[in-house]
Amino acid sequence: MNHILRQIPAIHELQKHVSFQNLCEMYNVTVPTLTSILQEQIHILRINIINGYEPTTTILDEIFINTEASLKKVFNSRLNRLINATGTILHTNLGRARLSDSAITSVVEASRNYSNLEYNIDTGKRGSRHDLIEDLVTQTTGAEAAMVVNNNAASVYLILKALAKGKEVIVSRGELVEIGGSFRISSIMEESGANLVEVGTTNKTHMYDYENSVSPDTAMIMKVHTSNYKILGFHKTVPSSELVDLCKKESILLYEDLGSGALFDYASYGIGDEPVVAKVLRSGIDVVSFSGDKLLGGPQAGIIAGKKQVIEKLKKHQLARVLRVDKMTLAALEATLRAYLRDETTRDIPVVRDILTDKAVIKRKALDFISLLKNLAPQYSCELHEDTSKVGGGTMPDVELPTWTVRIQTDTIDGNALHDLLRKQYHIVTRIKDDIVFLDFRTLTNEEVHIISKALKELGGD
Ligand SMILES: *Cc1c(COP(=O)(O)O)cnc(C)c1O
Repeated sequence: MNHILRQIPAIHELQKHVSFQNLCEMYNVTVPTLTSILQEQIHILRINIINGYEPTTTILDEIFINTEASLKKVFNSRLNRLINATGTILHTNLGRARLSDSAITSVVEASRNYSNLEYNIDTGKRGSRHDLIEDLVTQTTGAEAAMVVNNNAASVYLILKALAKGKEVIVSRGELVEIGGSFRISSIMEESGANLVEVGTTNKTHMYDYENSVSPDTAMIMKVHTSNYKILGFHKTVPSSELVDLCKKESILLYEDLGSGALFDYASYGIGDEPVVAKVLRSGIDVVSFSGDKLLGGPQAGIIAGKKQVIEKLKKHQLARVLRVDKMTLAALEATLRAYLRDETTRDIPVVRDILTDKAVIKRKALDFISLLKNLAPQYSCELHEDTSKVGGGTMPDVELPTWTVRIQTDTIDGNALHDLLRKQYHIVTRIKDDIVFLDFRTLTNEEVHIISKALKELGGD
């Protein structure tokens, strides 16, 4: 072992080696950058040798080959395009909502150029970034006032901290939710300094539970939309509309965390029963919050809408500055909200479009793919299947959207291997069921269908 360790050259000798110069040039990196990567590789190699590893090539080759592999990893992009053939529209792990073309154009413009982010063009004086978006939110939701923060978790935190710190917040035990990525109402409440008062039971909470829990220390009643699960059977909740009078009488705030926050009435198309933000606000609730990148189909953001007095207080809180959104988010959100006002929603916003896509359209796409693949790579056997897609992103957990999938098989690659190869080599994420690959065409564009066909052809399977 020691004799192998002694073969590792000193770093200043490696720096003089022609491979060092070559790597610097090939990857356009500075000497200090390459040196630090080299040092790390030497360190790893040392540990491996101490643990009994015996290099099969020369030590020099070993070091430079590993260094190049590490360089490649550093300079390859990390956030890569994926093709989502699972049919799940709002896949949190896959980046949730795809943006509309107009939102993308706006982001590019806002990033490339200077903008009036905080500049009033009329007066030439400092402006507010809140003003850029507020009226679009109020027009799409009917709220008196609105603001936008980094995500909906941030909305919840800001609202609790600014409006209920050191005071009590009443929440039904049936609504103490956990959202993916370990966001819990109870934890965020604790973090905010507000005191959680649990009422009712897991399955039933009555009006009198709320009435009996109000105390002089109560700041608000918080309702939480149980976005990602459903309670079936013997259960009761009190909708926020029925809590309005109680909150008025007791002079406490009523806040509902809507989670997804639909601006589009999916239920009118027979899809789920997601509350529409405007309708919730019309019932007289003080403030609501929801995500920008769930059912709304925009960028990651937390949208807070409600009574002017409440929003003003939130805007003035120090945390509002901490949680503020950047210009790219505002650009994307602005364009997305405008599509709602123009009634271009169903055509322009990919999330809305994909949720509403008719089964017959999906079938057409699936059949086109089958004939395409028959020409390109006849060794695969394809079979059309009726199935269902999920909305995902922790919304509408019980909704099953009718869809068509294609089952792909070949004699030479088994299903799990094909699933892995498509993912690792082509960044195509498919469904897998009983060791068989399925593609759901709901979430695939025509371009993506072509990419998949080409990938399958390349993988061969013959
Ligand atoms: C998704 C969700 C959140 C968190 O929203 P993000 O935008 O992901 O931060 C909070 N509350 C509810 C009820 C949710 O569904």
